[in-house]
Amino acid sequence: MTQTMHQILIVEDEPAICNVLHVLLGKQGYKLIEAGTAARGEIEARSHKPDLLLVDLGLPDADGLTVIRQVRAWSPMPIIVLSARTMEEQKIAALDAGADDYITKPFSAPELLARVRAGLRRNVRGSEQTHLLQLGPLHIDLANRQTRGPQGEIHLTPVEYRVLECLARQAGMVVRQRQLLREVWGPDKADDARSLRVFMKTLRAKLEPDPRRPRYLVTETGLGYRLCTNEAAQVEEPAGLTS
Ligand code: CA
Repeated sequence: MTQTMHQILIVEDEPAICNVLHVLLGKQGYKLIEAGTAARGEIEARSHKPDLLLVDLGLPDADGLTVIRQVRAWSPMPIIVLSARTMEEQKIAALDAGADDYITKPFSAPELLARVRAGLRRNVRGSEQTHLLQLGPLHIDLANRQTRGPQGEIHLTPVEYRVLECLARQAGMVVRQRQLLREVWGPDKADDARSLRVFMKTLRAKLEPDPRRPRYLVTETGLGYRLCTNEAAQVEEPAGLTS
């Protein structure tokens, strides 16, 4: 198992969630460190320097955002937030504080594992570019700007390639609308969410088998987009286990 040596710090106070995470991640061979408070989490993060941090937003001594900001001040480690379904604003605040992604409770086992893998890949890859993307039957060569599908060559514009590049750097993880707009169109366009929606519609028409039900370019309502590559979608657990 390739992830045997990966160390994950879990900062979570609910015993039931801790147990589920322990079983699911432990079974995959990840080495786990657990902390039940924000203060403990911060100490464990500093002493163990884990490969990935999973942090609950509602902790007994402080907001999970505090942990994210503190860790982000000294480390680029991938941070995934565990949050309740209704807390849309909290998710935005967490991503703005430096979290890379979030998982909504209750979560399924395949979803959790896919997000963790995406986070760990992001960590290994760092700022290094990803050149080849596979989305279902589509092969996308970002370096040479070529896209092939079962029907042959698909033409994408340079801007469409730039959007895919930006999403691919964080494949499997959420990318904020503002980040996409800033990176691809520049700081003046950072608030133009409407244009981005129109643009994504065109891109989906080219890449998605059913553009109304996107499989690869997934909308995270109010937050941004997630690129689901074949690698990111790879599922190891057959059943959806919720908690
Ligand atoms: Ca909690």
